[in-house]
Amino acid sequence: MKPNALICTQTGEEYPLDEPIWQSPKGYLLDIRFRPFLDKTSTRTRPANLWRYREAIPVEKDENIVSFGEGATPMQKINIAGVDVHFKLDFLFPTGSYKDRGSAVLISKIKELGIRHVVQDSSGNAASSIAAYCAKADIACDIYVPKGISEAKLTQIRAFGANVKIIDGSREDTAQAALEAAKNSYYASHCWNPFFFQGTKTFAFEVAEQLGWKAPDVVILPAGNGTLLIGAYIGFRELMKAGITDKIPKIIGVQAANCSPLYQAYNEGLPYIPKIETLPTLAEGLAIAQPIRGKQMLQYVELTEGVFLSVSEEEIKDALLLMCSRGYFIEPTSAAVVAGVQKYVEQFWENEKIVSVLTGSGLKAVDKIAKIVNK
Ligand SMILES: *Cc1c(COP(=O)(O)O)cnc(C)c1O
Repeated sequence: MKPNALICTQTGEEYPLDEPIWQSPKGYLLDIRFRPFLDKTSTRTRPANLWRYREAIPVEKDENIVSFGEGATPMQKINIAGVDVHFKLDFLFPTGSYKDRGSAVLISKIKELGIRHVVQDSSGNAASSIAAYCAKADIACDIYVPKGISEAKLTQIRAFGANVKIIDGSREDTAQAALEAAKNSYYASHCWNPFFFQGTKTFAFEVAEQLGWKAPDVVILPAGNGTLLIGAYIGFRELMKAGITDKIPKIIGVQAANCSPLYQAYNEGLPYIPKIETLPTLAEGLAIAQPIRGKQMLQYVELTEGVFLSVSEEEIKDALLLMCSRGYFIEPTSAAVVAGVQKYVEQFWENEKIVSVLTGSGLKAVDKIAKIVNK
């Protein structure tokens, strides 16, 4: 068994880590087997960014690293419903969301592979993040977006020089168009590409380090495509395997009630993701009806004895106003997670140490926030 490999999640077949593929030849999801090296002592003296865990990140040569010095975001205690909860301030990343964790590692790996052109699809933070790192690395990128996405987001993506392709159809049609284009390019997808999760796993490393190299009891995270949730699980598992921490925290996944396939699957005990009815939600980053890594999310939440929670539009608005009143300008998707924290504290909390995250900046969604605040 090679220590490092790309592994097909369906068949278990293995491919070299340096093969420029993002799905298996039969079209299944890939995961990564990688033996990280984590060391508390050498980490301590390094610059405060996510590359301080250098030997735990599968990019071979330092010269390939594409970085804005991102990571090591502050973690602050904020009182929610009477309980002090530790929040990572991931809305402070260079492009305004935690997606930069994934993009930093994925685009570095893409540079290492010698790839000069990528495609990506998203209507928001993942696209602008990938576009920024491609700009920094001088890699061309085509971003597929559905018709009708907000002008602000389109502008951020275009400003970085990405080639925007507007698809006259649904979010699913857009993903299909990107998949088609990826046949002649490389898919820098935050959901498909397993290297993205090698970046989001640094969330767990930072949390543990900031708690004095201890795992918290509970982490409460968004459950859209699960790029942070799955990454956090991988990171906490690596810390435990390295003998640094003694447990993987309970993982709580938060969904918007208006689009909650995982919440429904969890509550009905389904081993698959059901086709569901959806309504629009303020938490646009959580409006994922068919998350391609949904089964993985279900598995990790269940393995850690966590739960899925769903929050209403009213609860999202209330959480947004609460955080704004405390001086945190976050986007509504990010507020949905805070609403989930509130629900967890009220319904499940048993004197546990909770960590959560503020995922995205309010500057991304000023129009939506104006409608809530200026009422
Ligand atoms: C992408 C995103 C989410 C959803 O996260 P997943 O990892 O896809 O579940 C939540 N908040 C913000 C700000 C995002 O950009």
